[in-house]
Amino acid sequence: MDQRPINDISFEKFLSEDVLMGSVCGSCGARFVPPRSLCPTCYGSEMKWVEMKGTGKLAAFTCITIAPPFMIAQGYNRKNPYCSGVVELDEGGRVDARIIGVDATRPEEIKVGMPVRVTFIHWGEEKETFLAFEPA
Ligand SMILES: [Zn+2]
Repeated sequence: MDQRPINDISFEKFLSEDVLMGSVCGSCGARFVPPRSLCPTCYGSEMKWVEMKGTGKLAAFTCITIAPPFMIAQGYNRKNPYCSGVVELDEGGRVDARIIGVDATRPEEIKVGMPVRVTFIHWGEEKETFLAFEPA
C-alpha cells in the first residue's frame, strides 16, 4: 500500500481505510500530515509513507455555528455546532481535523493541550471519510 503516490488523493484513500498516513523525509526525518512530496524543512525529495499512531494534543480549536453546506447536510447548524481543530501529533506534524466527543456548545470546557486520538467518520451513501480526533 505504500506504493501509492504521495499526495492528497492517496491520503484520503488511506483515511477511507481507517489509516492515518503521513510522509517522512528521508533526509531530515521530519514528518508531515497530510503528506508532502517535498520536504519544506530541508528541501529533500526522498519522502516515504509512514503510518501514524494518531495520538496527539489539541493545539487549537474553534466551534462552528455557521456551518458550510456539507456540514449542514450532516445535521450541524446554529443550535448544533461542531468543533474543528488543529492537532499536534505526538510523532510530529500538525493536522486539521474535526474534533468529536466534546460539547461544541460549551467551548469553555474544551481544553487546548488535552490528549486526543484519531478516529474516522464515514458518512453518507458515498461513505465519504472525515478525519476526526476524540479525547483520549
Ligand atoms: Zn527534510
